[in-house]
Amino acid sequence: MAEPALVLWDIDATLLTIRPLGREIHAAAFAATIGRPLRERAATTGRTERAILLDTLRLNDAPTDERTLAALYEAMGRAARALEGRMREIGRPLPGAAAAVAGLAADRVTQSVVTGNLRSVTEAKLRAMDLAEHLDLTVGGYGDDGLDRAVLVRRAVARAEAVYGQVFGPGRIVVVGDTPYDVQGAHDAGVRSVAVATGETTAAELAAAGADAVLPDLTDLAAFRHAAFGSIWTARW
Ligand SMILES: [Mg+2]
Repeated sequence: MAEPALVLWDIDATLLTIRPLGREIHAAAFAATIGRPLRERAATTGRTERAILLDTLRLNDAPTDERTLAALYEAMGRAARALEGRMREIGRPLPGAAAAVAGLAADRVTQSVVTGNLRSVTEAKLRAMDLAEHLDLTVGGYGDDGLDRAVLVRRAVARAEAVYGQVFGPGRIVVVGDTPYDVQGAHDAGVRSVAVATGETTAAELAAAGADAVLPDLTDLAAFRHAAFGSIWTARW
C-alpha cells in the first residue's frame, strides 16, 4: 500500500441483512426498559439509532431523557446478543460482501464501519454473519454518536487517525452504503462515497443522490476497488 486508505462500511443492506429481526431487537429492548410492549416503531432506513429510539419513545408516549436512552442502548445490546443464533438462521451476508472485505484486507486497507447501529448490535450482526474478522470495530462511527450521519463519518475518521497514528489523505477515505443518507453523510464529511444497490434504493436513485460510484452489488472485487479508489487504484497498491 503506497499510502494508507480507510474504508468505512454501512452494515444493513450493504454487508448483510437480518430482516425481520431488527424489529424484534427493538421490541425486546423497549419491553425490557419501559416495562410494556412496543406499540409502534419509528422509520429506520438510513437513520441513526439515537434518532430511531428518540422517535420510537415519543411514538409510544415514553420518556426521552438520556437515562432512559442509555438503558435502552444497553437493552439493545443484550437483545441483539440473545438473537445471534436466529440471525445465523434467518440472516445472510449479501453477495460478495465477505470476499470484498477479505480482498481489501489483503490490500492492507484499514476497514471499519459507519452505521446507524450501536456498536454492540453491530458486533452481534457481524459476528453472526462471520464478517467481523477484518473490520476494526474499536474505531468506526455508530448510531449513538449523533443524529446526522456526517457526524458519524467524522467521528470514525478521527478515531481511526488517532488509533493508527496516521492521516488518511484526500480520496483515500471511502464510505460504502446503500441509501442516499450514506451518500450525503459521506459528502457532508468531505469523503468519497460508493453506493451499492442492494437495499431499497435503485442504482439510478443512488447516482442521482450524487454517489461517486454506484455498483449493483459487491460481487465484482475489481470493479469495487475502482469504484472505491478511482484512478488512484493501481495493481502496485
Ligand atoms: Mg444500510
